[in-house]
Amino acid sequence: MHNCDQHSDCVEEALRRADNICAERGLRFTQQRRKVLELVWESHGPVKAYDILDRLDSRIAAIKPPTVYRALDFLAENGLVHRLDSLKAFIGCSHPLKHRECYFLICTDCGEAKECCNSELADVINETSHNNGFRAEHTTLEITGECRDCRDTH
Ligand SMILES: [Zn+2]
Ligand SMILES: [Zn+2]
Ligand SMILES: [Zn+2]
Repeated sequence: MHNCDQHSDCVEEALRRADNICAERGLRFTQQRRKVLELVWESHGPVKAYDILDRLDSRIAAIKPPTVYRALDFLAENGLVHRLDSLKAFIGCSHPLKHRECYFLICTDCGEAKECCNSELADVINETSHNNGFRAEHTTLEITGECRDCRDTH
């Protein structure tokens, strides 16, 4: 779904953004948190926590499972990754802290997910919440289907 020319650039940019955000907010971006973020960004698809653990095992064995879960919590809290509940997975945020709500178009064929923002959708969700006396804090909308690339190859 994503035709990035060089994915190492995407990873580098994600890490640079995380560096900046953590510096601005006075957060500690430890080696371990950095490593976990790098592994989430290994692709443009959602990644499960145990996949991250698997990948760590083959590289550096020093990070234990609770450390990975805590690192993922830290990254999610600070908007650097999103939790995709329906898949029990994580995905790197493509524009951290620029939005409160995000919509994911998840291709069930290639497994990639695209993050989209749409303020009109946000308005509708806010209005619906408001009409029900509900105060919405976070919205994550997961839309599954088939991306253009996969549809083209069929
Ligand atoms: Zn990329
Ligand atoms: Zn995001
Ligand atoms: Zn696809």
